[in-house]
Amino acid sequence: MDETPREFGFRTRAVHAGQRPDPYTGASATPIYQTAGFVFEDTESAAAYFNLQEYGNIYSRIMNPTVAAFEERLASLEAGVGAVAFASGLAAQAALFFALLEPGDRIAVAKALYGGSTAQLNHLARKLQITLDWVDMDDPDGWRRSVTAETKALFAETVANPGGNVLDIELAASVAHEVGAPLVVDNTFATPYLCRPLEFGADVVVHSATKFLVGNGTTIAGAVVDSGTFDWSNGRFPSIAEPSTAYHGLKFHETFGVYGLLMKLRSETLRDFGAVLAPFNAFLLLLGMESLAVRMDRHVANALAVAEWLGVQPGVGAVRHPALPDSPYRSLVERYLPRGAGSVFSFDLESGREGGRRFIEALSLWSHLANVGDTKSLVIHPASTTHRQLADDELAASGVAPGTVRLSVGLEDVDDLLWDLERGLRAARGSAVTA
Ligand SMILES: *Cc1c(COP(=O)(O)O)cnc(C)c1O
Repeated sequence: MDETPREFGFRTRAVHAGQRPDPYTGASATPIYQTAGFVFEDTESAAAYFNLQEYGNIYSRIMNPTVAAFEERLASLEAGVGAVAFASGLAAQAALFFALLEPGDRIAVAKALYGGSTAQLNHLARKLQITLDWVDMDDPDGWRRSVTAETKALFAETVANPGGNVLDIELAASVAHEVGAPLVVDNTFATPYLCRPLEFGADVVVHSATKFLVGNGTTIAGAVVDSGTFDWSNGRFPSIAEPSTAYHGLKFHETFGVYGLLMKLRSETLRDFGAVLAPFNAFLLLLGMESLAVRMDRHVANALAVAEWLGVQPGVGAVRHPALPDSPYRSLVERYLPRGAGSVFSFDLESGREGGRRFIEALSLWSHLANVGDTKSLVIHPASTTHRQLADDELAASGVAPGTVRLSVGLEDVDDLLWDLERGLRAARGSAVTA
């Protein structure tokens, strides 16, 4: 008889990982443990929990069973050893960098980054006195030129928001490891279904679970997933390797091995920051992740159909979808994203800022809002919203043209999506829209 435990596939883990029937009631859905605290069995086990000698529920600012089911499922899907959930994607990033960095450190960061992350890192750099080395991730020598002996991490997105730049993960990982630094990848746009950066040498993955993981635009959430393979005791990460004053001189990496970073994040950083994921939000995430693979296949197919259609419409300039045949990222997509490059991309209207405004106003099915990764198709015109304070030359410097439109393609019937876009394009070109 074959006794090796079965390695379940991605779709199976998306439905089952992290979850068992509730031992007390038999409930098959994960209960929402809506509780702040947990009653200790006795004083001895309470003391062991507080000393981190035993792992158990103390208080929901540190851990909670519903949140733990989400963490375990995400870690399983990303092929990591574990995860720590946070109240948002930006909370997860802030906590990770806060845990890793000391004043005087440097991090190398891809220039093509979600705008909120750029703003956050600039603030963090000022407060923590760290230096950001901005990297052109499309330049094969970009990472190597930007790292120094002080570099403590490399940071980039698998598929960048909103430019669609695709990261050469193996290249960035090899440069990171030459200087003893971890490669941290924001895998929000790809999700673990389309790409698992840890399998290509990345050390830590961060997520805005607000997007495709929950999948329906109901929840703000984030997480850090660790590969468990980085050597935090290489002399460069005293906050993880050296004795912690918060726990009587405990050394996180030596004591917890592959869980060293995660234990540091949970029992110190999350405890101190308090940016904790609510149990109800974790419940919504568990529901959403069950259908991740099914949804992503449809997101990818719909987005490609929309991108190809846009490419042959009058009044449309560049269409920047990384999986299109003329995309500079085509070969990286084949290597890292064989199932597709996601469903967020941008294109340019030749009618500029005013055309962009008319385009948005003429749409009725696409929702005009600042989010991505919803079942609903979403659209935003940066020049009249997120970037509206910028003059045309400032826009250009941030990689956005006056007529640039960003789409997040949802799960509707493609024909309906194209019908609506056609109306928008006609309005952008200045023709009257008839219903
Ligand atoms: C939205 C987003 C974030 C921030 O996540 P929040 O959950 O909104 O805090 C970070 N990175 C990327 C790529 C995002 O799209």
